[in-house]
This record gives sequence, structure tokens and C-alpha cells, in this order.
Amino acid sequence: MTVFDDLVGQDQATAVLSRAAAAAGEVVSGGRGAGMTHAWLFTGPPGSGREYAARAFAAALMCPDAGCGHCDQCHQVMIGSHPDLESVRPEGLSYSVKQTRELILRAAGAPTQGRWRVILFEDADRATESAANALLKAIEEPPPRTVWLLCAPALDDLVITIRSRCRLVTLTTPSTEAVAHVLATRDSVPWETATFAARAAQGHISRARALALDEGARRRREAVLSIPRSLTGVGECITAAERLVKTAEEEAAAATAALNDDETSELRKIYGEGSTGKGLNRGLVRGGAGALKELEDRQKSRATRIKRDSLDAALLELVSFYRDVLAMQFGAAVELANDDIRFDLDQLAKRLTPEETLRRIDAIMQCRERLAANVNPQIAVEAMMLALRG
Ligand SMILES: [Zn+2]
Repeated sequence: MTVFDDLVGQDQATAVLSRAAAAAGEVVSGGRGAGMTHAWLFTGPPGSGREYAARAFAAALMCPDAGCGHCDQCHQVMIGSHPDLESVRPEGLSYSVKQTRELILRAAGAPTQGRWRVILFEDADRATESAANALLKAIEEPPPRTVWLLCAPALDDLVITIRSRCRLVTLTTPSTEAVAHVLATRDSVPWETATFAARAAQGHISRARALALDEGARRRREAVLSIPRSLTGVGECITAAERLVKTAEEEAAAATAALNDDETSELRKIYGEGSTGKGLNRGLVRGGAGALKELEDRQKSRATRIKRDSLDAALLELVSFYRDVLAMQFGAAVELANDDIRFDLDQLAKRLTPEETLRRIDAIMQCRERLAANVNPQIAVEAMMLALRG
């Protein structure tokens, strides 16, 4: 098993990244490490797993075994708590020059664990022009142990000066067949369930796995897909919005609670907390309180991120619903993501015009943008539900 196992259907990218991770290991042990580069650009359509690939590569850089997938280093990178990995998203709709400069400053520090300092720059296409210029300087003269991993949908989304300095990793959306195959062989999922999950997840392997193995994930999907037919009046729209936001909160709480407990007790062990210590900082040796505070800040921002991701996943589910409706309206011979609820799709396809369907997709995309810009979720989702009504 390696950290690259879940990069389904990305053989070429996996080969490049594995080789580079091995070269990076040579550099750490004093060798030349030909093939290692300080700036990487991961491109691919949504769902192709570009952020996932970048994260897996970060794990392979930190891991003494080039990405074994089960050591502490790999684990910390994959759950987003590694001290030498900084994963950033734009604050609001784009990266400001201020946010980028602060990041560059932090990127210049030496790695605390002695290997690499990795900056994972998600949505690099959202850097403003001045932010891109600041970034360019940082990429041109990187500190010896700093690696930049930029992610963007397509090559054209970045200014040429930046992309010409990055090594390119191109990802593609894996086919339903490829994803189903992995679920069936590696997770022993029955073929029919595997196909359903792969189709519903539209190439997102981790999403497909959750749908195949987790009853709760399947139930949440059903709840989301039942939203369009429930929006009969204003009151129903508001209730639907409340429910969607609350579900995202609960999902995030469940996902973070387990992670947080593990990390906190691990940190307390490192700093030698006495068994009688009850208060937050009591019994921790010097430096422990600061480290604990830092960990708590990191956990808080991760909780926010998971909540936002979970809400975004639900919105993408809704987009897939209306895209299926649109495909039916045009009689397009494409695979429907939500083939299991064909009846619902068909009903709506007959009632709406294609223009009305498109307007609904727009409303969902606008809601996603507003959420990314930190608009209050309840307000943004309510406005969207009202636009989906009827
Ligand atoms: Zn490892």
C-alpha cells in the first residue's frame, strides 16, 4: 500500500510523483536527487483529485519511505495536521497579496521535522495579479527545503510566468468503470453497488467509497436528492436550507471529534502531561501550552473547512441532479449520475424548460461562490433554495 493507491486511473501522474518522491528522499540524505523540483502544478477537472494528488505527494515527501501510507508522517499529512505542511485556500474569492506574502514568509522557515516544508496552494487560479507576482518571486528563489504544490483546474488558468516555472502533473477524471473496479477488487464491494457508487460519485474515488461502504453517506445523499421535489413553498425552502446546513455541521462535528481527541492526547504525551493534570495547561512542560494552543487553532480551522466541504459536496450533488435533468431534456445519450432516481429526474425534466434548469444550476453555483466568500451559510443556502423552487 502507498499514499498513491487512491489515485485511480492516474498511472502517469503516479509514476512521475513516485519517482520525484524517491529523488526527494535522496536530497534529504545528502544526495543530488535528480528529478526533484521545488514547484509543482497539479491540473485536472473537478473530481479528478488534484488536491488529493498534491496531498499524497506531500505525504510522500515527508515519509521516510517515500509514501508508505501508514506511518505517522503519512497519516499526519493526509489528515491535515502535519506541522511542515501548510495547506491554503483563498480567503474569500481570491488570494490577496497580503495573504500570499504572509504565506511566503511562513514558507521560508526550515522544516521542523527535518525533511521538507510543503505549501499546498489550492485554487491557485484564484490568485490576484499582484498575489501571483509575489508568488512568482517565491517560486523563482525557493529556500532549499521548501516545495510549492499549486492546484488549478487547467493550465490556462495561471499566468504563463508561473506555469513555466512549475513541473506539471495532469490529472483526468477516472471512468465509472475504473472507480467501480477499485471498489470491487480492493474493498470487496459487490459489483452492482460498486457501479452505483462510482456513477453517483462521478469519478470522486473517496466519495464513491463512502457511498459504497457507509450507510449514513447513502442516506445523506438520498436526503439531498429529495430536496428539489420538496420545495413547494417558501416555508419548505427555509426548512430545507436549515436542514442542509445542520447536516453539514453534524457531519463536520463527527469527522473532527475523533481526529481532535487523538491529536490532543498525542501532544499531551509528547509534552509529558502528569496523570493528575485537569486544566488545559496544567502539568504540561515548558512549550507545551503554546503547542497545544497552536494545535487547537489548527483544529478549529479544520472544523470550519470540513463543514464547508461537506456543504459544498451536498451542493455538487444537487448540481449533478439538475445536470441529469438537463441531459434528459436534451435527450443526450450520456450516463446519468443519478440513474437510481430516474423517475424524479424525468418528472422534473417534463415540468421545466431547459432554460429553467440552467437557471437552477446557476443558482447553486452562485451559492457555492458565496459560501467560499464567507457569506453566512443559512442566508446563502436559503436564497438558493428559493431560486430552485417550483
Ligand atoms: Zn509513510
